[in-house]
Amino acid sequence: MAFAYEQMVAFHGHSCPGLAMGYRMTVAAMDYLKQFRSADEELVAITENNACGVDALQFISGCTFGKGNLFFKDFGKQAYTFYSRKTGKGVRVVLNRAAIPAAIKSDRTAFIDYLLKVDANEIISLEEVMIEAPEKAQIRTSVVCESCGEEVMDTRIVEQHGRKICIPCSEKAI
Ligand SMILES: [Zn+2]
Ligand SMILES: [Zn+2]
Repeated sequence: MAFAYEQMVAFHGHSCPGLAMGYRMTVAAMDYLKQFRSADEELVAITENNACGVDALQFISGCTFGKGNLFFKDFGKQAYTFYSRKTGKGVRVVLNRAAIPAAIKSDRTAFIDYLLKVDANEIISLEEVMIEAPEKAQIRTSVVCESCGEEVMDTRIVEQHGRKICIPCSEKAI
């Protein structure tokens, strides 16, 4: 466990409570999923925040923004959902901050240490979920912005005064 954590710290850039939380949550969810997920099924994740822990999620689970199997919902919650794209079956994992003693949170080093060692059941809850119609990563066509000339994904093109332009150009041009 410690070895994987060090590699993850190198990826993230520093050790922090958020990374430790994301690490414990991701490992707990992956362990849970082993019950009904076969190795060849592609895993998909939804994160409900964009904080440090998402780097742990990406590093441990292999669900990444680049691959298109990580989705961001800006809910500001310390929660992730992992599911199989094939079956839609998965698990939502939530970190219960209220269960962490206040005194521990005030000392950063002690807090990280606590998060890495505490029994998962004390701070993490898991709930089996069923995701309807899993979204597929789509291959999009590119369109050239009529203002800056750069290629843009067709879904991100804006029509303004009869011209097809990119979002940054549309914000400048008004
Ligand atoms: Zn961090
Ligand atoms: Zn443009």
